[in-house]
Amino acid sequence: MQEAWARNFTSHETCGPISRLYEIGRSTEGRPLLVLEISDRPTVPEPEPKFKVVANIHGNEPVGRQMVVYLADLLCRGFTEGDPAVAPLVRDMRTHLLLSMNPDGFAKKKRENARSRDLNRDFPDPNLRGSHEPAGLAPSGNEQVETRNVMDWSLREKFTASLAFHEGAFVVNYPNDAGKDIRSRAYSAAPDDETFKWLALGYARLNPNMMADKEFNGRGITNGAEWYPVTGGMQDWNYYAAKSFDLTLEVSSRKWPPTGELPRLWQENRGGMLETMRRVGPGGGLHGGVTDAAGGDALPGTRVQVDGIDWTTETGSLGDFHRPLVPGKGYFVTASLAGYEAQTVGPLEVREGERLELDFKLVKKGGGSGKEDDGATTSATRPSRTDALVSSRGGGSVEGKGGFSSTNAIAAAKEARDAAAVLPADATPQARAPSLADSLHIQSVGGQYTDMLMRRSSAITALSAVGLVVLLFMAVQGRRAVRRSRVQRPVQLPV
Ligand SMILES: [Zn+2]
Repeated sequence: MQEAWARNFTSHETCGPISRLYEIGRSTEGRPLLVLEISDRPTVPEPEPKFKVVANIHGNEPVGRQMVVYLADLLCRGFTEGDPAVAPLVRDMRTHLLLSMNPDGFAKKKRENARSRDLNRDFPDPNLRGSHEPAGLAPSGNEQVETRNVMDWSLREKFTASLAFHEGAFVVNYPNDAGKDIRSRAYSAAPDDETFKWLALGYARLNPNMMADKEFNGRGITNGAEWYPVTGGMQDWNYYAAKSFDLTLEVSSRKWPPTGELPRLWQENRGGMLETMRRVGPGGGLHGGVTDAAGGDALPGTRVQVDGIDWTTETGSLGDFHRPLVPGKGYFVTASLAGYEAQTVGPLEVREGERLELDFKLVKKGGGSGKEDDGATTSATRPSRTDALVSSRGGGSVEGKGGFSSTNAIAAAKEARDAAAVLPADATPQARAPSLADSLHIQSVGGQYTDMLMRRSSAITALSAVGLVVLLFMAVQGRRAVRRSRVQRPVQLPV
């Protein structure tokens, strides 16, 4: 049913042009692992941050399935209607929603996959492997097929940041999920600890249940290891191996809550999801491109590192890089690539609510001597700021400040893209396609999460009385089911 919903979504006259449905493989029992991408030009590569949401990694934690459906609907509607809080999230970034990572577990209403493996303990672990480098965290070949598909997808797409939905508590959990002593409950700080706290708080502050929960002292966030250590989790692998800032969301204290609670759960998580996206994309972080100073070609595979933070990201195929960075501080940033002089720029201040744009033009080494090094930053020079193009801009604004040059290849590509936006800013309401609210209706059926239907509003009017009775019946059944499962399963692992 979720597949049907996604197909309807992508074939819809309004959402179709800004969405793409694709499969990243199959589950153990052959169910498709479907991803819905939302962006203004889903089939055209663009130098933009990529964001992903993974739902239902634990089969008996289905709320995320519905949250991604609601999010897709909101992004489509907000972009179509020109909502200033939503449109930049479609125009200036690309969001990929994995509707369910564990459809077999969902079908059986159990935590593990069909082979009774917990997928959130199935990833290569930095502490068990003794390496926090991508090469040391490569697939072993023993991962479950669902895990392997998600790993391959994450390494291929190079997401900037990501969220994963769970149930069993109210909190945002951030890396590390364990320290060197994998049994220790001591706080285990990731190199980007400050940025992780900033991202996690951005979400939690907008979720009233998280802020009210006394288990986490009303802070709404927790370091993973400090809560309880996890090895083989998806979160730390994402950060160290796939270079994606990953947060683990716990959005419901009880697992598999009644269907009738889904609209309220959406209201509680909607703001946090949008705020996280804003901080990752149009309203925060460090974004830019690296080109060859002589020829102007984009330079994929360039390492970009913030001084003092032992973590690097690399430019993608278009030469662009993106990384969240906590605002309010001065940073030095270094770009390095084998065969080129490393370049460091700074101090640069990332300001609250703004994204910092920084473009490097690297100069080839050695005047044709052919001598190359490993591209490490040990020989970094500290040129003046004019060697790189820097600007900052607020979320959603296209107003540039500072020395951002329109001749820059990436800026030019963005401008051309904006000019060719799917919906021009001056489009009249008559010129627009009917809004989703007019032509679609989303409804849960059968007590199964994300068994979503889209129907014409006229049909819904006729069916609404019947639907109300059915929903009430389902809510009662759902509560009974939850009560039963609680009795049978006194020990619950939330993450
Ligand atoms: Zn879970």
